[in-house]
Amino acid sequence: MKISKRALGIEPSLGRQLFNMAQKYNDVIDLTLGDPDLMPSEKIRNAACYAIMSGKTRYSANKGLIDLRKNIANSFHNEYGLSVNPDTEVMITVGGMEGLYLAIACLIDDGDEVIIQAPYYANYVQMVRMCGGIPKIIYTDEENNFSFTKKQLEDAISDRTVAIIINTPSNPTGRVYDSSTLDMLADFAIKNDLIVISDEVYRSLIFDGKIHDSIIKREGMQKRTVLVDSMSKRYSMTGYRLGYVICDSELAENMSKMQENVAACASLPSQYAAIAAISECFDDNSNVQEYEQRRNFICKAINEIELLSCNKPDATFYLFVNIEKTGMDCIDFAYKLLEHEHVAVVPGVIYGDKYHNYIRIAFTVGIDKLSIAVNRISKFINSIIK
Ligand code: PLP
Repeated sequence: MKISKRALGIEPSLGRQLFNMAQKYNDVIDLTLGDPDLMPSEKIRNAACYAIMSGKTRYSANKGLIDLRKNIANSFHNEYGLSVNPDTEVMITVGGMEGLYLAIACLIDDGDEVIIQAPYYANYVQMVRMCGGIPKIIYTDEENNFSFTKKQLEDAISDRTVAIIINTPSNPTGRVYDSSTLDMLADFAIKNDLIVISDEVYRSLIFDGKIHDSIIKREGMQKRTVLVDSMSKRYSMTGYRLGYVICDSELAENMSKMQENVAACASLPSQYAAIAAISECFDDNSNVQEYEQRRNFICKAINEIELLSCNKPDATFYLFVNIEKTGMDCIDFAYKLLEHEHVAVVPGVIYGDKYHNYIRIAFTVGIDKLSIAVNRISKFINSIIK
């Protein structure tokens, strides 16, 4: 069969491969996917069940249920003081992922360039390529807390650049962009007439009482920001596949046209569940407290293992662990760790080719399992030292 160059150009994810391999072992501790083990609250589950049982299972408007869009617009008004028109500036999508994809597909033409900060969520690069675009990567390093400079942006831009993708809080580093970086980026985007796709799906999983800041709040930025958010991480609703985008009305209209030809709409029961999440569970911080405890535990435990180190993430449920001192490449490390100790992690290289010295751990299992994982990792490292 003839398969398109576009499809053949997609690289299968190493993270998924390790996840699939991990399923072979009965006693595996799987720290690969960013898929929370915590259940959505009962209110959310009830809302989804009620929608199904009462026949709210048909198509919705391509942009999604107006009631959900109103809830989202209100929450942005309350949180950020933004005025968002629910009719024209909110688009409900099949997870944050479809929001990212539709936005990229509507913004770029063949050969257009998109600046992406590494380490990055690997799907950005693939999505840009799937839409005929060219990813321009800005690499950052641990010594500089994975932050970039204006000079790096200036070096990456060309007359084909149409957008920058940012991710704060970041997967895989857990880094949160500070206000001065967002000011600098906003200034850069306005001066160069760029769109900023701001992936904020971890915006409420922030620890130590820190507050999330968004580029959309900067003067002149609401119309050039595509804010992508999702129910997946905050409300543990990954399988509901429900996300949304806040953006300029012209872009939302075009995304809606495209949605009609892709998925028609997001699942209706999930949209009702999302209304319950936003209207009834917004202030429930119990998940954040749980992840913060896990973060404290795993971060300390990993730093106590010889040859391993990591920064303390400010947010998310990921740890980006430096394995350089082991002398092993991340792929070798991940495969051997799985094979010998039945702990599955993601090789850092999937977040950009400069990150061969890292692995990513998702603390999406409880402290009991994390503690077993740490013991096994420690045993694995001892076997290397001997
Ligand atoms: N953006 C980032 C940075 C992610 O890590 C993920 C999922 O892991 C997504 C977007 C998409 O999540 P979903 O499609 O489940 O909303």
